[in-house]
Amino acid sequence: MSDIAAIGRTTLRWCAGLLVLALAGMGIGKPANAGCFPVRAPQFVALRPLVSRDASQALAQAEARIARLPPGSARSDPRRLAALYAIQASAYRALALYHASRAPARRGLKLLGGAVDPLREQILSSYALSFDSPAGIARALRRIKQARASLPANSPSALCLKITAGDLNILRNRSDLAIRELTQSYLRAQSLGLPTARIDAGIVLTRVLTKMGDYKQALDLLRQTIGWDKAHNSTNYLATDQYFEGGILRAMRHYHRAIAAYRSDRALSTAIDDRQGVAYANLSICQAEIALKRFAAARRACNRAAPVLAAGNAHAMVNETNVLRARIALGEQHPRHALALLNRVLDHSGADLAATTIAPAYLARSRAEAALHRYAVAYRDQSQYLRRFKAQNRINQSRLKAALEMHFRASEEFLRNAVLTRKLQAAAYQAAKQRQLLHWMGTAGVAGGLIIILLSYILISGRRHRRQLVVLANTDPLTSLPNRGHTAQRATLALGSALEHNRPLTVALLDFDHFKTINDQYGHATGDHVLREFARVSHEALRGGDILGRWGGEEFLLVLPETTLDSALLTVGRLCALVSRIDIRAGLRVTFSAGLATTAEGVRTLDELVARADAALYEAKDAGRDAVRISRAASAVLGPG
Ligand code: GH3
Ligand code: MG
Ligand code: MG
Repeated sequence: MSDIAAIGRTTLRWCAGLLVLALAGMGIGKPANAGCFPVRAPQFVALRPLVSRDASQALAQAEARIARLPPGSARSDPRRLAALYAIQASAYRALALYHASRAPARRGLKLLGGAVDPLREQILSSYALSFDSPAGIARALRRIKQARASLPANSPSALCLKITAGDLNILRNRSDLAIRELTQSYLRAQSLGLPTARIDAGIVLTRVLTKMGDYKQALDLLRQTIGWDKAHNSTNYLATDQYFEGGILRAMRHYHRAIAAYRSDRALSTAIDDRQGVAYANLSICQAEIALKRFAAARRACNRAAPVLAAGNAHAMVNETNVLRARIALGEQHPRHALALLNRVLDHSGADLAATTIAPAYLARSRAEAALHRYAVAYRDQSQYLRRFKAQNRINQSRLKAALEMHFRASEEFLRNAVLTRKLQAAAYQAAKQRQLLHWMGTAGVAGGLIIILLSYILISGRRHRRQLVVLANTDPLTSLPNRGHTAQRATLALGSALEHNRPLTVALLDFDHFKTINDQYGHATGDHVLREFARVSHEALRGGDILGRWGGEEFLLVLPETTLDSALLTVGRLCALVSRIDIRAGLRVTFSAGLATTAEGVRTLDELVARADAALYEAKDAGRDAVRISRAASAVLGPG
């Protein structure tokens, strides 16, 4: 059991970040947009502040006003009715009831016809964002594009629709396109002096940055937005933004701080009677408490979320809750209960289950089955998990690569804009006699320029920093080879793939002979030099996919995918030859001993494979060192000779 559980833990840790991110980007949050479009219709203007302060209240008031309209007003005063529908659609969105916002939006669009009108564009945006299926989103994007074509490119409405398009692209997992659209909107809103559009672009940009793992930048933008929320008393947006803050902090594994953010989101959502918002906050608290292994607290939070989600028909979230409950049951050593919950999720919900829920569900079920000593089924679920995780990961990786590229281009754009802004400033100063121009420069130009320079600095230095940190955390400082943790991670993945595709994989454990004596006789620095030289020359004996890592002290683990025992022996032989040629000092000859083990022996876990290689290594040492031995079980597979 512990072996399977160990693989589970390692792989889970490895991908936890990604899954958390995928969840954070699932569109749980309540988006903005109510404030972006320059709508002048009085009914809309009157109720709009209420949408962001207390969406349920806004919904009730719009309904009451519609009921009070004289009969026939759909014909006599269509804009008035449409404005109230627009409020309804925005309010539903603010409550994260996206599907519910579609009906009032459709009615509003029907009333307004095809003429250019900010009210119509506002409703179109709500309508478009009510879709979540790929086909629906594609259709919505086409309508947005059409509407934008009939507007001047720099008009506020065109800008707000561009933000909507960015939002839709996040929904369909095109972070690369989203980043481009949102960065452009952010900059354009800034230079046009449209703060609400800038805030909207900022909120959506925060979501996509989080999804891409650029937490620092996301938190930075979010903090600006939270400042705006507070200054404008926008309880709704403040709750949403604290929810996002919690999501980012959770992805950064600052679980305590994440819980604090979710709690203040929950308090605000309670204050405005946003039951759905309270449920999502509780679900996220449950998730963070599980990460902290505080299962009782996790259970309380999940139990509070479940009834609301079930009543709200949030099918995907009900499944999500059951997977979380199963993980709690596992943590509390109730594998049977976990199994029952997971069977319900995996057997009955089939295709409409989110990919991000399925993979962890299989993983949890394999752990529950292993805890009940049903290893064969556990292994089957583990393979299902690995397969889905890898598929998901492949998609994420290619998207991530494209998004990062786009991100880089966006930061270049920031820099170019900074230069442009400064040129603009110089030109404007020459015409300094005109007060108005100076005033405009003071607000939009200088502030904009500074923010752009600051953002691009944060963007570039943050990215470089993160990359260095990841490399550092994975590398052994003496030899620059992968360290033990990273070697185990890579080996686990290689092993999973080998087992799944029924391909051979061989590992070798190498240990230098009489290393203590080398240290004692020639000094520790010489010992270090031997290890560094070995790492430096080893690549001459290895292929691209081979993994050589420092396992500890003067012990190294070699993992050879797609390699049978026979060819592994040749590879180890090449390493022996390289080591014997290492020129350290006259009269000093270094050797190592090695033990080999292979998947052909029916071994299923890395721990067991390494244990067998270790046993073989002992035999090599016993045989007088400078020797290679293969695991006993493997010799049986290989046959005599
Ligand atoms: P054996 O042939 O049985 O392996 O003998 P050994 O002396 O190599 O014994 P063992 O593997 O138990 O000891 C490893 C020694 O390697 C102990 C430690 O002082 C030394 N060592 C471990 N890490 C380093 C290192 O980073 N640099 C140096 N110079 N020595 C190290
Ligand atoms: Mg040794
Ligand atoms: Mg040793």
